[in-house]
Amino acid sequence: MFVGVVNCLAALVMALLVSASPVSAQEAAAQVQPREVKIVTRVLPPMVIERDNALTGFSIDLMGEIANRLKLKVSYTTAPDVRALLEEVRSGRVELGISAVSITAAREAEFDFSQPMLNAGLQIMTRGQSGAGTNPLGDMLRLLISWTSLGWLGIGALLILVPAHVVWVLERRHPEGIVPTKNYFPGIFYALYWAAGTLVTQAESAPKHAIARVIAVLWMFTGVVFVALYTAQLTATLTVQQIAGGINGPEDLAGKRVAVTSGSTAANAVRELQAQAVEVRQISEAYQALQNRTVDAIVFDAPVLMYYAANEGKGSVQLVGAPFRKEDYGIVFPRGSALRSEVSVALLRMREDGAYQRIYDRWFASR
Ligand code: GLU
Repeated sequence: MFVGVVNCLAALVMALLVSASPVSAQEAAAQVQPREVKIVTRVLPPMVIERDNALTGFSIDLMGEIANRLKLKVSYTTAPDVRALLEEVRSGRVELGISAVSITAAREAEFDFSQPMLNAGLQIMTRGQSGAGTNPLGDMLRLLISWTSLGWLGIGALLILVPAHVVWVLERRHPEGIVPTKNYFPGIFYALYWAAGTLVTQAESAPKHAIARVIAVLWMFTGVVFVALYTAQLTATLTVQQIAGGINGPEDLAGKRVAVTSGSTAANAVRELQAQAVEVRQISEAYQALQNRTVDAIVFDAPVLMYYAANEGKGSVQLVGAPFRKEDYGIVFPRGSALRSEVSVALLRMREDGAYQRIYDRWFASR
């Protein structure tokens, strides 16, 4: 009973003290008035787009929704590249950074990241068919003196040995046979010449021995298939070379000139792949360099490249394969930021209540 009364009194005194203190008044005001949050971003369509001096894009819409929910009043500055963006965050001049910042092990050691805000990854982009302007003569010579051609020549040489010997055995005793001598040499050369000619469907003569004729017909069929396969292979190789300049995947980038943005994860990846990284600050400069043929390819974030390929670059560029290195984008905070977990919770709630999906569809739904 006594303890109860004391507790009641203590609570009363506490309540009076708290309501009288100036700190609590400030706190109360803060709950009503939006907190001001300075943000650094970077123009990178469709994540961040600058239009008539205003910012829009997936990241900006996402941040807008988070700000609404957390009652934040946001103001943006833009950085020229991701390195400068991270520097702003590190310096503490801004509360957070948002654009297309990949969460990496090295960055995680220096910064705090929100929960992932988008799945991304590195992808390759090359000039498309129409922008190719290839050199067919050069392509042909390169193909003729290539390992592919050598391989086919080898297979052809091995293949002709079988019918040549059968025909040699059957034809050498035939009076009008295509092998005019009974000896292995030079008789086999006549047979080999016939077999080679037939394989490429250009035979000058036909065997006279009945069984040799059956063999010849079967061999002609083999020839048709052989030539068809070879043609298919040549066409495929040529097409790929014309479209992508021989770039079919990350392993083909070695030695090639590849545009990347400075300080990006793509720049690191391209150096690891032994390619010549050509660094630009704005992604638009990379698109330019690709069209001007100063570079052979661009390696960059899949969501950004896909957006360009589907809009401005439609028909003139081409994405090569699927993203070859998966990454996630996050909102980046200085170490120990109090805001980080609030933002992460808001982001996760938005995933759960559909707000995230609506923003996603606005920018990434296929049109
Ligand atoms: N996702 C890239 C990175 O974080 C973007 C680079 C950039 O903004 O240019 O490295």
